Amino acid sequence: MANEIVFSQNHIPGIADIATYLDNGGYQSLDKGLGMTPDELIEIVKESGLRGRGGAGFPTGMKWSFVPKDTPKPRYLVCNADESEPGTFKDNELMLVNPHQIVEGMILACHAIGSQQGYIYIRGEFVEHIRAVSGAIEQAYEKGLLGENIRGTGVTVHLAVHPGAGAYICGEESALLNSLEGERGLPRLKPPFPAVSGLYGCPTIINNVETLANVPHIVNNGARWFRQWGTERSPGTKVVSVSGHVNNPGNFEVPLGTPMMQIINDLAGGVRKGHTLKAVIPGGSSVPMLAASECDIAFDYESIAAAGSMLGSAGLIVMDDSTCMVWAARNLLHFYRHESCGKCAPCREGTDWLYKTLARIEETGGSESDIDLLLDICDNMDGKCFCPLGEAAIAPVISSISKWRDEYLAHTAHGGCPMRREP
Ligand code: SF4
Repeated sequence: MANEIVFSQNHIPGIADIATYLDNGGYQSLDKGLGMTPDELIEIVKESGLRGRGGAGFPTGMKWSFVPKDTPKPRYLVCNADESEPGTFKDNELMLVNPHQIVEGMILACHAIGSQQGYIYIRGEFVEHIRAVSGAIEQAYEKGLLGENIRGTGVTVHLAVHPGAGAYICGEESALLNSLEGERGLPRLKPPFPAVSGLYGCPTIINNVETLANVPHIVNNGARWFRQWGTERSPGTKVVSVSGHVNNPGNFEVPLGTPMMQIINDLAGGVRKGHTLKAVIPGGSSVPMLAASECDIAFDYESIAAAGSMLGSAGLIVMDDSTCMVWAARNLLHFYRHESCGKCAPCREGTDWLYKTLARIEETGGSESDIDLLLDICDNMDGKCFCPLGEAAIAPVISSISKWRDEYLAHTAHGGCPMRREP
């Protein structure tokens, strides 16, 4: 079974409603999971090898184990549903189609870390999702699946939805916590890490939507069941968002380790007729671009890292031969310049300079020295930014120059983009 495509876009109709969810085995994991001790619950998730599905890929069970056990302070669980990464729309679908799965995962996670209060921080633009998740929480309360003494187990869990206000930086966990506290969404200095001092200075675990959605299945079926898919170091399945120049864009759940070209060709329908694959961004806009010749790899954390990029949030952006790579880098920097929170100078200034330099090359050709200038700006940002956003912003610039330098030079020779078509 391992590494075959198990399913892609199959949803049980009406599963967002609690009656259908319960009819299909929903909330069954609570009988088992709430009967376990928190340590037993953490152990089963550790054994499964589940890694955070938000981008960093940190082992979930290990993260839960960092919460101090002897603290007198309340502990909090936060579900990061601020999905804003360009090219990534998997949590979007999970929240709309199957919100109870997330609620169920949060109840288990709260029990594992000894928390009685969880928050779901949802991107503000996701109005329908806020309604869907809020509705699921309401239904769970009505059925006695949330609140005091759930199903007579003595476990108490309360959940609440908190809408964001549309800032990409609030997907960064410490900025999210500031926003949740009612402050401006700026990243915090780490350490201390949230597991020790997070929301209101209390121990807090922040997990991604997809991560939490995996937990009920692991508790129900066991760690070995989860490990039947994927690889030794990247176990389980992953929802991949495929967008760009493909015939059938969408979300597809595949075992980690599935060949990346199989995802692009078999599930996403391949690139548009009459075109060939040119480049792929495999993990959402924040990771280095891969050239077509580098795409014959397995879709898992290790294989993509070995190819020089990252799995990230698994937002697979496909570009065909009609794409100007200078334009692509400019487009991405337009986003990062806008979303830079401005807290640190290397990112605040650097993203602006990168965008302006790329725009100059794309519109007028700039000069050859502009390529060196771009790399110099990236060097001044690399390792010097306060949070990962700054590091992410340089990835498309460095990778596009290193792989398509000839296109940058063609812009200089042509006096602007040679691929630009007049309207
Ligand atoms: Fe803000 Fe960018 Fe600095 Fe992060 S790297 S703190 S987003 S200015």
